[in-house]
Amino acid sequence: MTKQIADLEFEILLTADKIEERVKAIGAQLNEDYNNSVPVFIGVLNGSFLFIADLIKQVSIPCEINFTKLASYYGGTSSTLKIREDIDLTVDIKGRDVLIIEDIVDTGNTAHYLIQKLKEREPASLRLCSLLLKPAALQKKIEELKYVGFEIENEFVVGYGLDYKEMGRNLKDIYKKVG
Ligand code: 5GP
Repeated sequence: MTKQIADLEFEILLTADKIEERVKAIGAQLNEDYNNSVPVFIGVLNGSFLFIADLIKQVSIPCEINFTKLASYYGGTSSTLKIREDIDLTVDIKGRDVLIIEDIVDTGNTAHYLIQKLKEREPASLRLCSLLLKPAALQKKIEELKYVGFEIENEFVVGYGLDYKEMGRNLKDIYKKVG
């Protein structure tokens, strides 16, 4: 069954159940990996808001949660990136174990930029967790990418926080563009 979002047709790629299962597994891994520290999780808005909320509920160790918003413009179905110069954070990450939480790594340009910017603030460690990764689209090697929910084909996806023309963020499942 297909779903119309704005002017495009989409079909199911990942069901809510499958996402939930994977999010639980990543949460369990984080509890293990950050057992001896009080990490700072930095959620990158807007697309990751549901993933962050679900993931953080699986984390049982003491932690801090902060957010930043990158002004990346993705109006259509391909990445035209305009990133704002300053990374807005209300926490001092110097000497802290930091985990960035992203919705999707596509070309990797956004993640690469954010990682460079945050490194200037001298965290003790810096890692990246992304719900989705498109290995075929990746233009840069991102060493910090330690946690990936799902590797997907180089296709445009929507749902579970991700939008198409600002629509579809509320969908429980993740859909891919038909055709
Ligand atoms: P990058 O190309 O820099 O890795 O990704 C830039 C941004 O484009 C991502 O953070 C995400 O907001 C958006 N993006 C990349 N691929 C998709 C996709 O398939 N669907 C949606 N909705 N957004 C995407």
